[in-house]
Amino acid sequence: MDYFVFKDGELYCEDVRVSVIAEKVGTPFYLYSASTIERHLKAYESALTGLPHLVCYAVKANSNLAVLKLLGDLGAGADIVSGGELFRVTKAGISPQKVVYSGVGKSEHEISMALDQGILMFNVESFGELKAIERLSQEKGKVAPISFRVNPDVDPKTHPYISTGLEENKFGLPVEDALRAYEYAKSSDCLAIKGISCHIGSQLTDLSPFIDALKRVLRLVDTLHDKGIDIEFLDMGGGLGIRYSDETPPLPEEYADALRETLGERPITLVLEPGRSIVGNAGILVTKVLYKKETGKKAFLIVDAAMNDLARPSLYKAHHEIVPVERGGRESRPFDVVGPICETGDFFARSRELEDVDPGALLAIRSAGAYGFTMSSNYNSRPRVAEVMARGDHFSVVRARETYDDLIRGEEFFHG
Ligand SMILES: *Cc1c(COP(=O)(O)O)cnc(C)c1O
Repeated sequence: MDYFVFKDGELYCEDVRVSVIAEKVGTPFYLYSASTIERHLKAYESALTGLPHLVCYAVKANSNLAVLKLLGDLGAGADIVSGGELFRVTKAGISPQKVVYSGVGKSEHEISMALDQGILMFNVESFGELKAIERLSQEKGKVAPISFRVNPDVDPKTHPYISTGLEENKFGLPVEDALRAYEYAKSSDCLAIKGISCHIGSQLTDLSPFIDALKRVLRLVDTLHDKGIDIEFLDMGGGLGIRYSDETPPLPEEYADALRETLGERPITLVLEPGRSIVGNAGILVTKVLYKKETGKKAFLIVDAAMNDLARPSLYKAHHEIVPVERGGRESRPFDVVGPICETGDFFARSRELEDVDPGALLAIRSAGAYGFTMSSNYNSRPRVAEVMARGDHFSVVRARETYDDLIRGEEFFHG
């Protein structure tokens, strides 16, 4: 069931005409389908039935409070990477007891905040971080729940910028060092060993790197068990890919089955941290064509959204499908779809076959629900766009479009 469909040549999000929303809120805007987000979470939940588990949605993929609330109400926990994300998830009513905290550079302030809130566990990525957590929990008279993120050194075969589980990447502890770290943690009164985690990359379209990683992690789990260290939570991170154009990523069900088989009978609670696969295909970015510009060589559609709103094409040369919101039945021809920003890298598509449209037409940039708004910026002093959520025949703005006053909030003239 796709909640973004054409009916009589008009794009709908659930039962709402996208053009109606554009009229109401202006362009550009992100549009999320609540039913799609819900379906994606439920796909994980049902795939994991019978296995003790916790799905911790990776907040950095899309951290809008409405998205977090929706997922939290359905029972999801959260994978956070900053104090700001912890602030958001608590605002959305997600229990800290369902929060795992990842990231290589947690500050003292952030660690303190997480200790005070009582999160499920820190996914610790270095010895230095472990020491900082130990010291801060000692100062507070607390015991910090920890897990080590190990780097299983497997190639996820994805884009190098979103590959994280290779020895050369900055993430996690090498398996050899992890053993020593666990022994240190075991000897500390202020640290409680909860789990083990890994996260090898994003947009994986094949199961074998996940299974290779799990096997390496399990070897360590078994070694730890022999040394009297037992692990309660095994966190496989996120990374399951989605279809942007013609990829055929595994379904959560296939992924869960493969994990289940590899885990065997070990008494472990499986944690997954999906981000992209929950929200990626639940969102579109709607933009308006401002101008059509023909040069000798090329035809450009200059739109009102830009790389500051959706960075993935410029950042990773990522492919996003682009469709007109209202089909006019004209021939398609190759266009470069570009934004107004003063950078050559400000594009959404190059030489893309698109139905010929005129200025004023609305375009939907698809699969924009993950790493879309969360990576947006105010570059070129562009207010960040509105975010809208729809369910059934209702929609509402879940983040107002920024104003010019928002742009200068906190700024002051220099009082040298
Ligand atoms: C980014 C990230 C995720 C989410 O990855 P997706 O590819 O969006 O599923 C999960 N865990 C960690 C530690 C991450 O850094």
